[in-house]
Amino acid sequence: MSKFLNKRFEFLEPYVPGEQPVDMEYIKLNTNESPYEPSPEVLSAVNESEMLKLRLYPDPDCGTLRRALANHYGVLKENIFVSNGSDDILNFVFMAFCDCGAVFPDITYGFYKVFAALNGVAFETIPLKDDFSIDPADYYNAGKTVVIANPNAPTGRALTRDEVETIINHNSGNIVLIDEAYVDFGAESAVELTKKYDNLIVVMTYSKSRSMAGARLGFSIASAAITRDLDIIRFSTNPYNINRLTLVAGVAALESVDYYRNCCRCISETRRITVDALRALDFEVIPSKANFVFAAHKTIDGGRIYKELKRRGILVRHFESERISRYNRITVGKPVQMDALCQALRDII
Ligand SMILES: *Cc1c(COP(=O)(O)O)cnc(C)c1O
Repeated sequence: MSKFLNKRFEFLEPYVPGEQPVDMEYIKLNTNESPYEPSPEVLSAVNESEMLKLRLYPDPDCGTLRRALANHYGVLKENIFVSNGSDDILNFVFMAFCDCGAVFPDITYGFYKVFAALNGVAFETIPLKDDFSIDPADYYNAGKTVVIANPNAPTGRALTRDEVETIINHNSGNIVLIDEAYVDFGAESAVELTKKYDNLIVVMTYSKSRSMAGARLGFSIASAAITRDLDIIRFSTNPYNINRLTLVAGVAALESVDYYRNCCRCISETRRITVDALRALDFEVIPSKANFVFAAHKTIDGGRIYKELKRRGILVRHFESERISRYNRITVGKPVQMDALCQALRDII
């Protein structure tokens, strides 16, 4: 740290992303990317004529994309906020709506506590139940901004829409943020509830189910007033934070409904087969509604499994935090990748 760094960042511990190795080719099951390419519509939208326009700034209003998203989700353009990945939106929410503090589960997306620290937000964590599920009642009348990933990461467990609704209507004086990064893999979305509740923000991303982690595109659906607030923050930091190629790719992806539905169906089916295979190898597997599974072997330590898999060219995600150190989070890839995973696990065991 240089002597010039602002004191408020002295103890900031940055988020540690999953490894993105360049030394060799791994079977990469560690950052929940899609194993499938972007749709044909996306590939043809990002063409030479769009590249020639790169000399021009992108549309700061992102009007075409916001209208297309509004149309897709049955809301109005005024309800759609878009930004450079959903992490960007989460940061803005901690910046904009958390003077009251924030609350989230003890085991959840690791970025929440980093954004809280970055923005000087006091936060409380509530332990998941023993089976890693969330008890909605734990979040009633929180008196703080409630942040819940649904499905949760890294557990993969999901709340029903009705459970989410009880959290929202027991917090009418505070914002409830539902992070739906993984919702397309089998959970119930809370988007409809944004029409009924003015304290709800649903955050989604193109990174997982739409195979565009590298394009950096996220969006939120909320009341027009909340959406305007978020745009004030975006226009006060970087109004051009979504590049032209990502804007056209984002619109084109919405034309590929069947393609992406089929990708999600393949991933759900591969997940089901993987869960069975892992259980047959003596793993405890948490029931998942996401594109990953969270699994602990009955006798072999999680860190050991992570290392042995890496030695065999397979990357999964291991978290050191005590409560989950027996587990690994394993992205659901293509069937051949999961076969290789199971073969390597058999070898290790
Ligand atoms: C992957 C992920 C995100 C971040 O997505 P980006 O749009 O790529 O920034 C947000 N929340 C959760 C829970 C995630 O797992």
